[in-house]
Amino acid sequence: MTLLTFYGGVNEVGGNKILLEDKDTKIFLDFGMSFSAREKYFEEYLKPRSSNGIVDFITMRLLPDLEGVYRTDLLQKAGKKEEAPQIDAVLLSHAHAGHANYISFLHQDIPIHMGHTTYNLIKAITERAPSSIEQEILEFSEDGSKRGALKIKRKIDEFSSNEKFKIGSLEVQPIHVDHSVPGAYGFIIYTSSGPVVYTGDLRRHGTKPEMTEEFIEQAKACKPIALIAEGTRITDKPTNESEQLVFEESDKLTSSTDKTIFADFNFKDVDRVRTFYDVAKKNERKLVVRIPDCFYLKYFHQDKALDMPNFDDEDVLIFKQKMRSGTYSDSDYYGDQRFFATLPNTITADEIAKNPGKYLCALGYYSFGSLIDIQPQSGTPYIHSASEPWNEEQIIGQERVDNWLAKFGMSKHQIHCSGHAKGSDLMEIVKEIDANVLFPVHSEHPTEYARVTNKITIVEEGKTYKL
Ligand SMILES: [Zn+2]
Ligand SMILES: [Zn+2]
Repeated sequence: MTLLTFYGGVNEVGGNKILLEDKDTKIFLDFGMSFSAREKYFEEYLKPRSSNGIVDFITMRLLPDLEGVYRTDLLQKAGKKEEAPQIDAVLLSHAHAGHANYISFLHQDIPIHMGHTTYNLIKAITERAPSSIEQEILEFSEDGSKRGALKIKRKIDEFSSNEKFKIGSLEVQPIHVDHSVPGAYGFIIYTSSGPVVYTGDLRRHGTKPEMTEEFIEQAKACKPIALIAEGTRITDKPTNESEQLVFEESDKLTSSTDKTIFADFNFKDVDRVRTFYDVAKKNERKLVVRIPDCFYLKYFHQDKALDMPNFDDEDVLIFKQKMRSGTYSDSDYYGDQRFFATLPNTITADEIAKNPGKYLCALGYYSFGSLIDIQPQSGTPYIHSASEPWNEEQIIGQERVDNWLAKFGMSKHQIHCSGHAKGSDLMEIVKEIDANVLFPVHSEHPTEYARVTNKITIVEEGKTYKL
């Protein structure tokens, strides 16, 4: 008998935590952070307290209340007894927080399976940000341990596309898909009842559509008994979007001005980084990156398949932001920051201001303070290369962006291509794979799929479905 229980990703984008049980084997497909649950009670300055172990997370339903799943140190902190792990493994589809971050709370003996690129990307994310309890995916500091004490490393098993492996009664086949982070996978899980397919997050219109097509082909060929499919953009209107178009529009804009270009995008999206690197190069400009983003370049560059420039590339400059003394003194920068801040290819705001037409700055909203130092000329373009705001918090954030742009007389350009398949593509994927039953996840509008299939189960959170 095979069972599925959805502890997240239900009527929401992100938070995927899907329990698959087969005979005596139990695995989770992803164990992500639920943005909607978190936003309901918390924000930047009101965080769930790590001082309370796992209690805040379970009480406020950021984590399901399950036995044999969580870290011993956090249970003890919550006054609970140690529990032997009852989960055999987690299959991680990709490095986005909505899929990966709450692995941080899992028992140290539960093996986590992920692709090599995902492993590298999580390393970069961890190194660039201050440590936090919600960001302890690869290793964690045991509660109460002294500063500098050795961290507890999780058991990480790396997989490659199409290389099958076994977990108890299951055989797992990971297959690469194209998404807005490199190293994303979908899975075919061969259970004792038949194959179960999980899409993770995917798209058909990205730079490597052949990967997604391969996944769809194989998913279809295995004649699955169940398909767990993402539906992020199921209701979006049809668009004509591609990374190539992002390049062309950004290139056109850049070649038409002798002012600095500011581009605001997510640096985890390796395709987007490459797009702006190429645009800069074609227009004889240097790509200016923030110090924290050098960690991404470092790990992307190590991954030969990604074919990316490193932070010391001749067409990359590192933006040395004004810190403490305001004089760019080496001692203003700590730790790894100092390493990057003292490299020969750094650049300051004054230098950008002197030759505005020579740079394409990957400096977004969180670097807006530096606009006061750069003093961009009126009409300087700002490219917003991310999805448009869709919730209240993001809309307020956008209004603040607009205020900054107005203050400096900058012009705003929306140039983007999404990491998720468009509605029409999602419908086709589901029709093509044609599983015995479809479980839509990672969507605010799961019922939309009923337009193309009647073999659909609208998921309820925490309810168990027999396959
Ligand atoms: Zn996602
Ligand atoms: Zn994703």
